[in-house]
Amino acid sequence: MANDVFKRCNFCGKSEAKAKNMFTAGAYSICDECVLYCYDILAEQNAMADAKPTNTELDRSSKDSSVTLKKPAEIKAVLDEYVIGQEDAKITLSVAVYNHYKRILSLDSDKDDVEIQKSNVLLLGPTGTGKTLMAQTLAKLLNVPFAIADATTLTEAGYVGDDVENVLTRLIQAADYDVEAASKGIIYIDEIDKIARKSENTSITRDVSGEGVQQALLKIVEGTVSNVPPQGGRKHPHQEFIQIDTKNILFICGGAFDGLESVIKKRTDSSAMGFGSSIKSKNEDIDVMKKVEPQDLVKFGIVPELVGRLPVITVLEELDEAALCRILTEPKNSLVRQYTKLFKLDGIDFTVTEEAKAEIARLTIARKTGARGLRSIVEGILTKLMFESPSDETITGITVTAEAVRGEADPVIIRKKPKQQGA
Ligand code: ADP
Repeated sequence: MANDVFKRCNFCGKSEAKAKNMFTAGAYSICDECVLYCYDILAEQNAMADAKPTNTELDRSSKDSSVTLKKPAEIKAVLDEYVIGQEDAKITLSVAVYNHYKRILSLDSDKDDVEIQKSNVLLLGPTGTGKTLMAQTLAKLLNVPFAIADATTLTEAGYVGDDVENVLTRLIQAADYDVEAASKGIIYIDEIDKIARKSENTSITRDVSGEGVQQALLKIVEGTVSNVPPQGGRKHPHQEFIQIDTKNILFICGGAFDGLESVIKKRTDSSAMGFGSSIKSKNEDIDVMKKVEPQDLVKFGIVPELVGRLPVITVLEELDEAALCRILTEPKNSLVRQYTKLFKLDGIDFTVTEEAKAEIARLTIARKTGARGLRSIVEGILTKLMFESPSDETITGITVTAEAVRGEADPVIIRKKPKQQGA
């Protein structure tokens, strides 16, 4: 029976006073929480329904052909359009990705017994040197779903935080719930070094922080059929899970691995003798990093099994002034191109002098943020102008000078000549 005085949710029994919202139709009521709950269930069912039809032969062939297989040189050429420098990393990644997709595309057709193993990649390099950018660019050029996860937010199942499985949820969401496509996608896991065991050289006190996450990660990296909640995070008893096989997902892991140089140095100093006699590059730390071997990563605190699953290791270089200047202008979506376009929309010509670029690069290096710092510096210089210029129709040009970067002057503003009165 309906209760006229105090409405109650007919699903959970909550009183109107306790619910944020109560929807009533005749004698029946439903609270906002139950509406959301039903919505979740429907959304999951839709997700499952969307995922199922891709099993048909027709769909599979069309999905497969949508993975664009490019040759390593073609892959690198596209990376070159977006990523400045990092030649070694670009070549290694291009080959790894080419092999990975060749392997996937041959799985359906070749039935011989040679099994090409997955070549997950580990990118070592300081922050802001292009690790994420490279992974992102790859996903774009290959036309596959792509998800990014930050290893530091991941936890073992059951702890507060992001379950490792949620990374897969994100990939499935990126694929618009096309599980087949997602199972051939790319996952970039950033800051993998931050989940290293901390106590590398103590033998009695075992610090297991991070190790549980590494183990959880290992499972999906090496290939497993995982049950993931379609909406991520929230789990409730009636939730239907999506099953995804991770064996064909390419994992790219990245991290700065601060301190790894000393681990490598220790090893090479004591056992060196014959090798490594040709150090002549300016960047000694990077040269040391390039000698990394799996055992160094284990010493650093990554479990051997996970190290074993990341067979392709490549080192990114620190970006110097020249590289940062190029990053400002050269990539397809470089900062200068972006701001030029933004100002152009207001009819304003935007330029940055060569000295200003060098000054921006120097400031960025001082902040030790890699290329990531470029944007905040440029934003800082331009915010006031971006606020004022749309309302000031006399402005036709803006030039950023070195003085403006150093904060000693405002950017140079070029204005329309005022019309002669009564002429
Ligand atoms: P990280 O190495 O920490 O993953 P990101 O790839 O996220 O760094 O770089 C941050 C931003 O800096 C990128 O979005 C990009 O704009 C710029 N950037 C970094 N490295 C490069 C590079 N080598 N070439 C071009 N842009 C770069």
